[in-house]
This record gives sequence, structure tokens and C-alpha cells, in this order.
Amino acid sequence: MQPIKLSQTIEDYLALLYVLERDGETIVGARLAELLGVTAPTVTNTLKRMARDGLITMHENGTHLTEHGWASAKDVMRRHMLMEWMMLKMLPWSKLHGEAHHLEHAISSEAETAVYEELGRPQTCPHGNPLPGCEDTVAGWIPLTELVSGEKVIIRRIHELAEENRPLLAFLDEKKMTPGTEATIGEILPFNQTVGVEVHGQIITLGFAVARYIYAEKPAS
Ligand SMILES: [Zn+2]
Ligand SMILES: [Zn+2]
Repeated sequence: MQPIKLSQTIEDYLALLYVLERDGETIVGARLAELLGVTAPTVTNTLKRMARDGLITMHENGTHLTEHGWASAKDVMRRHMLMEWMMLKMLPWSKLHGEAHHLEHAISSEAETAVYEELGRPQTCPHGNPLPGCEDTVAGWIPLTELVSGEKVIIRRIHELAEENRPLLAFLDEKKMTPGTEATIGEILPFNQTVGVEVHGQIITLGFAVARYIYAEKPAS
């Protein structure tokens, strides 16, 4: 049986549900509406369609991807991440996510495999998020909010949910605070909900709301 081609909307929902479920977040309609920028009734209608098509289950104990939904979501995520890499030499880092969002729906599986091989089988996207099946690669990376002042680290990952924040990505791009950058954790002010990060000799102050989505690696001592 040929797999049914899913609509762009459904693929976008699948990708988001995948990230939330992978991270152990409870899937709530209001949160989806906020993240997708649509109304709660729209979310409810779309989820009902997805349940009808066997992609998710909806019970009192929450909304979950089915095996079929999980497999489809992994496909979307992988295509998305490979499209980000494909555009890397042509577009600013901060624009990769938005562009890949369009391309991910169009690429065939044959082209996808070719890109994957050509890129040398990457384990993360250019923002440091794991390709499906490569979660172990990122398991040791720690959110900036959980580090200690004075620690020297390497920035490794900007979480998928923060990739949606275009002004944030543009800011990080401008400050060159992208994966692979060496950084020192500065002042952490819980009463102010801020953490300072020194990169390239400059102190950048981030709020906890953003800093918790940025992960760093502690070099082996
Ligand atoms: Zn992305
Ligand atoms: Zn990415």
C-alpha cells in the first residue's frame, strides 16, 4: 500500500507533537495553539482529523502519537533537518529553519537519502537538535540555566522550540553564539531570571525563558 501523502498542516503538527512527546512534555491543546499560532478550536479540529487517520490517540490521559504517527513524524523531522543543512552555505544560520519549513514537505525520499549521504550522515541539525534516532548524541548537553557561574563550556544546541523564535535566532547569529562556540557562564541572577554568557569577549545576558532552550557541553576534564 502506498503511504498517503500528508498535508503540510498535518506534517507541521506531527513535527511539533514529536518534539513534545520526545521530551516527555504533556500535549495540551492550549500549548499547541500557542506554539502553532492558531486558535484552540482549530487545534481541536486538526487533532480530531489526525486521530481519525490513525496518527494520534486522544484519551483523558493525554494525546499521544501512534506508532504510525511516530514514524511519519520522524520522517518529517529528518527531512526538515537535512533541508536546513542543505541551505547552510546559501542562507544565514538564522533563516535555515524557516526555509526548511517550506522545503521539508516537498523532497522525495530518494533525494532525502542522497542529501543525507552527501552531508556525511549528520547526527544533528545545524542548530544542534538530534536527528531522529540520534538522541544519545545530545544527551550529555546541559541547558544554560543548569550550569554554574565561571564554567567554561561549548554551545551545542538551540532547542527546536526556540528555533521558531526568529528574532532570537537572528540575535544569536549576530552575537556568533551558535553551536561550536566557546563560552563562559557569567553571573546567574535567579531573582532577575537572567544568566550572563561570555562569548568572543562579550557578555550576553539571557532570560531563563530563553536560556533553558540553549544547551552547552562541558569539556571533559
Ligand atoms: Zn528547524
Ligand atoms: Zn535546526
